[in-house]
Amino acid sequence: MATLRDVLLYQAKRENSDCPDDDDYPSWVCSDCARKAGAKWPKDHLATFHNGTCDVCGEKAGVTQPRDWGYPRLKRRKEDG
Ligand SMILES: [Zn+2]
Repeated sequence: MATLRDVLLYQAKRENSDCPDDDDYPSWVCSDCARKAGAKWPKDHLATFHNGTCDVCGEKAGVTQPRDWGYPRLKRRKEDG
């Protein structure tokens, strides 16, 4: 069964051939991690942030999808360090 992430990755691949196809790629990222990865918020881009857990730093924060940042180079945080 396709998960929401599969669907998003599929859509992203159609929109952006540079989309990482990687299980280590986070589903959600906070703005701190995205900016640290060198991402810039696209001008006039609108996206929905929600309060959740950042897949990169593991902190509770306002998170959004990496696609909203133009797919910065991010690594999903490992559960066991
Ligand atoms: Zn983070």
